[in-house]
Amino acid sequence: MGLTKGSVGTGTVDNGLEIRKRSESDRVVAIAGNPNVGKSTVFNALTGLNQHTGNWPGKTVTNAQGYHETRRHSYVLVDIPGTYSLMAHSAEEEVARNFICFGEAEAVIVVCDATCLERNLNLVLQTIELTDRVLVCVNLMDEAKRKQIKIDLPLLSRRLGVPVVGTTARKKRSLAALTAALDEVIDGAPQESACQVVYSGAVEEAIGMLLPAVREKTHGKINARWLSLKLLDYDDALMEEVNACLGCDLLSDADVSAALQRARDFLSGLGIHPDDLKEKIVSHTVKKAEEICRGVVQYEKSGYDARDRRLDRILTSRFTGYPIMLLLLACIFWLTITGANYPSQLLSKGLFWIQDRLTEWFQMLGAPEWLHGMLVLGVYRVLAWVVSVMLPPMAIFFPLFTLLEDSGYLPRIAYNLDRPFQRCHACGKQALTMCMGFGCNAAGVVGCRIIDSPRERLIAMLTNSFVPCNGRFPTIITILSLFFLGSTGGMVNSVLSALFLTCVILLGVFMTFAVSKLLSRTILKGVPSSFTLELPSYRMPQIGRVIVRSICDRTLFVLGRAAAVAAPAGLIIWLMANVQVGELSLLSRCAGFLDPFARCIGLDGVLLMAFLLGFPANEIVVPIALMAYLAEGSIVDIANPGVLRQILTDNGWTWVTAVCVILFSLMHWPCSTTLWTIRKESGSWRWTALAAVLPTAAGMLLCFLIAAAANLFC
Ligand code: GDP
Repeated sequence: MGLTKGSVGTGTVDNGLEIRKRSESDRVVAIAGNPNVGKSTVFNALTGLNQHTGNWPGKTVTNAQGYHETRRHSYVLVDIPGTYSLMAHSAEEEVARNFICFGEAEAVIVVCDATCLERNLNLVLQTIELTDRVLVCVNLMDEAKRKQIKIDLPLLSRRLGVPVVGTTARKKRSLAALTAALDEVIDGAPQESACQVVYSGAVEEAIGMLLPAVREKTHGKINARWLSLKLLDYDDALMEEVNACLGCDLLSDADVSAALQRARDFLSGLGIHPDDLKEKIVSHTVKKAEEICRGVVQYEKSGYDARDRRLDRILTSRFTGYPIMLLLLACIFWLTITGANYPSQLLSKGLFWIQDRLTEWFQMLGAPEWLHGMLVLGVYRVLAWVVSVMLPPMAIFFPLFTLLEDSGYLPRIAYNLDRPFQRCHACGKQALTMCMGFGCNAAGVVGCRIIDSPRERLIAMLTNSFVPCNGRFPTIITILSLFFLGSTGGMVNSVLSALFLTCVILLGVFMTFAVSKLLSRTILKGVPSSFTLELPSYRMPQIGRVIVRSICDRTLFVLGRAAAVAAPAGLIIWLMANVQVGELSLLSRCAGFLDPFARCIGLDGVLLMAFLLGFPANEIVVPIALMAYLAEGSIVDIANPGVLRQILTDNGWTWVTAVCVILFSLMHWPCSTTLWTIRKESGSWRWTALAAVLPTAAGMLLCFLIAAAANLFC
């Protein structure tokens, strides 16, 4: 899911103000729009980048930038988070508003959904209030056509007073008209006659009282009418940005503050208080959008959405919703496990065949034994392990999950899980961030920005790592198949394996609920907020694109990250196994030191050390443990599950060890990237420490109980 190069770095800027122009003549253009209208698809098609796309609202929470050239100009395009309004109620709305208002953007493309244009026009109208170079892109025209919705684009353009282009962003060709129109917007005059929302007489009068003083101070840097309205609206959070943009404290100006006081007194004299004013602003904007749409949009056939509604009745009903959710999850795991088994063995055989050849070359060249040991038995062997264990399951799991995501099923999961989250006094949107955590916990933590309440956002961040990311899946899958399903393979085994894995994941979800509840009862007390979750239309996923993109962007990226960590870790393990301290190797000493404690929680010293060394990337835990077990022994054929199991049992593993490894994999400290992200998002080391302590304590406690019970009863 959420993990791509973009989501953890490249091309992503957090506050939207850090624009990287390639040359001075680059024109900066923002791509705004409601969530899930195809902004990222437009952005990707124009820039050639691969910003995460998915059929659910809230997946883009940071700004990304890329470049596009037309015959006339070169552009820096900025994909900003999807937002329904620019009133800045939530973190994404603030990012979007600040970028449009203060972020160097010379023009804004507002992408709209052709199938629900009226609602999208609210954002268009608010954008027009803010800036005088707006281009409206009515996307999803193919869906509108299927739903027999007709849109009179020229009439819409005349009514809005800004250019309007219809597109189907999935078809790149349809974007030519958009870029041509963009050139016109950039080269043309500012859109001074664009449609304005006219508020009630009293509000307009109050704006009029304030406007001259504000206009004098803003020098055209910020739209004075909009700013006057915001001042009347007591939007204090905005003032810092405004002052930074103007380079002075606007409210300390005597004229502005006197005019503001007069206008506010005038409004309160008429009984219009700040809350009433907000409501008036919203209701006038909505009414204007309604007016504009009259005659522009025609529904030729009502009830087209009947199919979606029927599907929703099944997928979100209390009786069928949960079983279908579990079944789908189990199916994905089953396909992953069965599909990965054979290629994994093949890869392992191939890579270890290469290891033998490398050994022969080293011997032929007369290289010293320590060099061969470090490079081949240390670095190469652990790399080979990581690739053969991780690549096949990820190459299957990611595309399958992305297909679900692209079809629009994810918001239905959030809808189903809303009630249990509310019971834990947390936010239903946490279900979406939890799903993102399946791909990568760091991406899940960033995704928590879709949650408006800071209290609920913290709960979601602190509990995100209770669902296993893709780095932990291979560990769990490998141990499950080795210890609980025999080595014969077969249909029954793979189905059982998928069911076991589903149970492990359910335990993670259950722990998320339990810890969320604990937090909301103790240090993060509060009432759960209500939220509106939009259920988007079901869309046919672009299967080919999904497969290619999820393998190129996600699988190989995650694998690369794991390999980058695994290589030095392999070297360290080899050195530790070969550096003698007294009678014993350093490895044996360290493992011996950790052993007594590790035994209390059903593990052993080597395993605990592997978990510690896996801090930069969880993927390497099993390979590291195996390396450590094999470090002093002879090389064996570990492509064979029977042999692999033998190695583990020779090193004292029992079913109790296997259960504890699975549980500890599910619940221990998050990887370094995730912790760093939590630090960045929460701004506090204390919360970061708690995010590490919570799953570790839960994992240790559970493992301790299981190990103690096994000692007592077995
Ligand atoms: P964003 O949230 O606005 O960035 O939306 P995305 O770019 O992620 O797109 C949301 C979903 O709509 C994805 O599944 C896209 O593949 C799909 N999509 C985008 N544009 C079109 C289009 O023009 N036609 C159709 N049928 N689907 C589209």
